[in-house]
Amino acid sequence: MRAARHQLNQKAVTHRLEFRQYRFPFGQMVRTAHGPWVEREGLLIRLEDDAGRIGYGEVAPIPAFGTETLAEAVDLLAKLGGTADATSLDRIDERYGCVRFALASALGRGTAGPAVTQLPVAALLPAGKAALAAADQALENGFVAFKWKVGVLEVNDEMVVLDDLLARLPAHAKLRIDANGAWTVRQAAKVLESCAARPIEFVEQPVAPEEVDSLTGLARDFPTTLALDESVTGPASLREWLERGWPGVLVVKPALAGAPASLLTLLASHRADVVFSSAFETAVGRQAALQVAFQFAGRPPRALGFGVVPLFKDGRIDGLPAVPFLTIEAVKAINPEAVWNALN
Ligand code: MG
Repeated sequence: MRAARHQLNQKAVTHRLEFRQYRFPFGQMVRTAHGPWVEREGLLIRLEDDAGRIGYGEVAPIPAFGTETLAEAVDLLAKLGGTADATSLDRIDERYGCVRFALASALGRGTAGPAVTQLPVAALLPAGKAALAAADQALENGFVAFKWKVGVLEVNDEMVVLDDLLARLPAHAKLRIDANGAWTVRQAAKVLESCAARPIEFVEQPVAPEEVDSLTGLARDFPTTLALDESVTGPASLREWLERGWPGVLVVKPALAGAPASLLTLLASHRADVVFSSAFETAVGRQAALQVAFQFAGRPPRALGFGVVPLFKDGRIDGLPAVPFLTIEAVKAINPEAVWNALN
């Protein structure tokens, strides 16, 4: 009874809603399948209740990845008319995963205690032979998890570099490779055949997301774990793959995936094997996204896909240094207000 009344009271809390558009330049341009990306555009939202409690949230859409657009997000937030409460979320359709994420994080939803207190971060290695020197440097900096971009060289040449790379990693290190959907099914099969005898953590998005049956077939036919990234664009496609019984890893970008509490419930109910990853968000969304990762208790945790740091020209926007391990304390210490104030 008391719990029920408490919930009613919670629902009654109305917050003043403010939102601001941002545009922050990256320190270095990000290469994407759609060309160079030089600055991040999105929205920061700020909620304040009558008691002066403040919450921040971030809408960091990637329309090319299948999310809502910035204009749609502005529209949705404007329709809320300057206030938000716990029921505002119910009025926003699931396909607006970025807005739902922002509102839920600003409302402080889904902020249960952490299931883990420290997680490794995967260092990003550039395509081709440049990966070798980058791996040496990352090893020296204490990284134990690595992600190498593949699907760039001829398959045979790439396998030679892969062996050079594996030869310099210590036994406790983990290497995942990411093709970003670049291979044909035949190329992917060739790579997976070579990978069978190699210690690869997983192969990410070997073929394009449209190749649904091939992805399922490759996962069934080869022993190496496969991960889906571009195939998982939001809550709807995530649920589809979970219901399809995908046997591999799912790369989840919490900033695109709706309300954290619903996301965690969905993942737990399917005992999902997950890599939590950045959507190139600022420190505001990053803090909330990392809290999701630290709350997830479904499986032995995998290294975080947050090796994009340092990302922004202005270090305040990153909110975190580039470190091989992140602790929950470091996540809690991120100050979203600093990013909000940077917009003044
Ligand atoms: Mg990827």
